[in-house]
Amino acid sequence: MPKSNAQQRALIVGAGIAGLASAWWLERAGWEVLVVEKAPSFRAGGYMIDFFGPGHEVARRMGLLSALEERRAPISSVTSVDSSGRRRGEISTAAYEAVADGVISLLRGDLAEVIRDDLRAPIRYGTTLSSVDDGRVVFSDGSSDEFDLVVGADGVHSKVRELVFGPSSLRYLGHHVAAFSFQDPVLSERIGYRYQMLTVPHRMVGCYAVRDGAMAALMLYRSDSPELPADPAAALRERFGDLGWVTPSLLSAVPQDVYYDEVSQVDMPVWHRGKVVLVGDACGAVSLFAGHGASLAMTGACVLAEELSAGFEGAFARYEARMKPAVEHTQEFGRRFIGWMAPASAWRISVRDLAFRLSGLPVVRNMIRGSLMPDVDGVLPRHRAS
Ligand SMILES: Cc1cc2nc3c(=O)[nH]c(=O)nc-3n(C[C@H](O)[C@H](O)[C@H](O)COP(=O)(O)OP(=O)(O)OC[C@H]3O[C@@H](n4cnc5c(N)ncnc54)[C@H](O)[C@@H]3O)c2cc1C
Repeated sequence: MPKSNAQQRALIVGAGIAGLASAWWLERAGWEVLVVEKAPSFRAGGYMIDFFGPGHEVARRMGLLSALEERRAPISSVTSVDSSGRRRGEISTAAYEAVADGVISLLRGDLAEVIRDDLRAPIRYGTTLSSVDDGRVVFSDGSSDEFDLVVGADGVHSKVRELVFGPSSLRYLGHHVAAFSFQDPVLSERIGYRYQMLTVPHRMVGCYAVRDGAMAALMLYRSDSPELPADPAAALRERFGDLGWVTPSLLSAVPQDVYYDEVSQVDMPVWHRGKVVLVGDACGAVSLFAGHGASLAMTGACVLAEELSAGFEGAFARYEARMKPAVEHTQEFGRRFIGWMAPASAWRISVRDLAFRLSGLPVVRNMIRGSLMPDVDGVLPRHRAS
């Protein structure tokens, strides 16, 4: 049995959305929290996410909504273009608002920064774990320590998961993805705050203006193997070099530290063992196809802290029972959404673009809403933060 919350120590591995949100909720519940992050410094920027659903409600309970609104990117529509940049279809502004009700589009790093700025817990950068034996951990610098709780919030390729649960639980979804941002005021002016994308069978390239002359780009393509290339920029040039529109400009701006990964989901029978529990992508990655990962990461952090406050005994199982159905439902939704984001044939691309063009009609709008939004209302946390 734990003594009192004030005396308990929690280690959180990973300073992404799940780790920072876990730190936020646990320190407010009286835990002494330490966060370790393997990156040498805070990971700013990154790719744009649409933040909505239960995570939006959790952010409201954390009192962070106005700070998030300040960083909102005014993306007004989604436009499909051809290789000359001509519009093939667009989700109208009205339809987009109806589809993405209450959505905040912002950079992943901005969401993380807003949570971090409201934290007191120390974050030790450039640090990871070498081993974990229940609450006893050895850090990468050779030091060791003992904790009452170890939260693995270290993402889809979680080291904590590997150390505690063994080999990978990844379900590969047949695609590779790259995302990056760069400064280009001219292109930024030309593209504007519209998500514009060029799709050919099994390949999609998209971009949008961010702010202050910056651009963000996303590239997605089908690959039979999850194995990552040694040189991601070269792999992207090889895959997308034949595409027109603004693709050559995007390819010439791929940075050294481009985010590049296989698109996978995490599928685990159990999310906890002893004093160790996983949150966010580490136990329930839904993939970019599902588009709810940040929201579920925030929600999981809140639900975990709530259940720990209700009593340590059985808390992990109660947390898992509340979160897992929503994660599995969203994963299933994500697998169905692959056909929207990366259609396999010219015919399917045409059907999708037709739906975009007709999106002003209420009946089509409702169809799009049904296709784009998994129903995860049931996981809304039961209690209100005081
Ligand atoms: C291109 C793209 C678009 C997306 N769009 C959306 C969207 O529109 N809406 C949405 O809700 N979600 C979206 N997502 C998903 C969302 O970004 C993730 O689900 C969410 O960020 C997961 O947060 P996390 O904290 O669990 O993991 P991560 O963000 O991966 O954070 C894990 C952290 O742990 C650190 N770490 C890793 N290994 C170690 C280690 N061994 N030791 C210490 N630290 C470690 C990492 O450096 C990182 O800081 C998108 C994802 C991608 C890739």
